[in-house]
Amino acid sequence: MRFFSVFVVGGLLGLLASFPQSTLHAAEKMPQGRITEAQIQEIARDSRIKWTYIAAVANYEEHKTSKSKGIEWPGYLWAGPWNPNPDERSPQTLRMFGGIGMDGNKDGLADPATTEDSLVSLGNWLRRHGDNEEAFREALEEKYDRELIRNRIMGFAKVYATFNKYELTEHAFPVNKKYDYSFKETWGDKRGWGGRRIHEGTDIFAGYGTPVLASAYGFIEEKGWNKFGGWRIGLRGIDNVYYYYAHLASFSKGMSVGMVVKPGQVLGYVGSSGYGKPGTSGKFPPHLHYGMYRGGGMKEWAFDPYPYLRQWERQRKST
Ligand SMILES: [Zn+2]
Repeated sequence: MRFFSVFVVGGLLGLLASFPQSTLHAAEKMPQGRITEAQIQEIARDSRIKWTYIAAVANYEEHKTSKSKGIEWPGYLWAGPWNPNPDERSPQTLRMFGGIGMDGNKDGLADPATTEDSLVSLGNWLRRHGDNEEAFREALEEKYDRELIRNRIMGFAKVYATFNKYELTEHAFPVNKKYDYSFKETWGDKRGWGGRRIHEGTDIFAGYGTPVLASAYGFIEEKGWNKFGGWRIGLRGIDNVYYYYAHLASFSKGMSVGMVVKPGQVLGYVGSSGYGKPGTSGKFPPHLHYGMYRGGGMKEWAFDPYPYLRQWERQRKST
């Protein structure tokens, strides 16, 4: 009986750890990138722009949503700001109007829907600004209104520079197999609050101090106290998924916003922090509240991490 009530309280607190201003999608199909490292390296060579900058924009565009169809180009950039026809496809006319659109596949048209044309134009666009961090940020300001998105793309470039590789698809289960833990499917559980809200994640029960691990290649986007999640850390994966770790006891030494991490790297330790002023702890059993979010920036939505957790757990066992 006592265990039962503690568990219910834990579940209730778990839902309080939910990310604000998000909507829920039970299942989420991960977008698959089509642009290859070879294509990116070729554009980098031809445009004399660091491959990490080309890669960062291409990766963001390909993982913006699950329906992403390559790099999107607004008419003012592709066709030029004063071009009366934003749908112009003639490379000569685009050039005349200062558009960045170019013909990469030599079919006589500069078509933003073609990967080759899109990539050559990406190189052309970045080349106009220059090959350094300041110039890259300046270029991003032309295309992306939101600072959050510009920072995300800059972060991706840093991840690529750290690992010197475009294919960074590896994932890791967030708890090391040497530690005891348990979790079950709780997505959509209606608990507390009159059933108005549902649990946005998976609670992984484990002892105090159990290390929690990065699930993906990426960088730390958020770190600190949140009154629901307690000590929480947010990892922006290179797959553009936001991995949310809440109720921690403490963070791994040296963790800071902007830091690049790889799958399996220790981010912090399991605790029971949250639901109150900074430092509040022990109001529910220790567990890791694990959330996964996607979104293009204007809107973030949670999706069910459970199937991914089971998948990563299986993959770990087989290695
Ligand atoms: Zn939870």
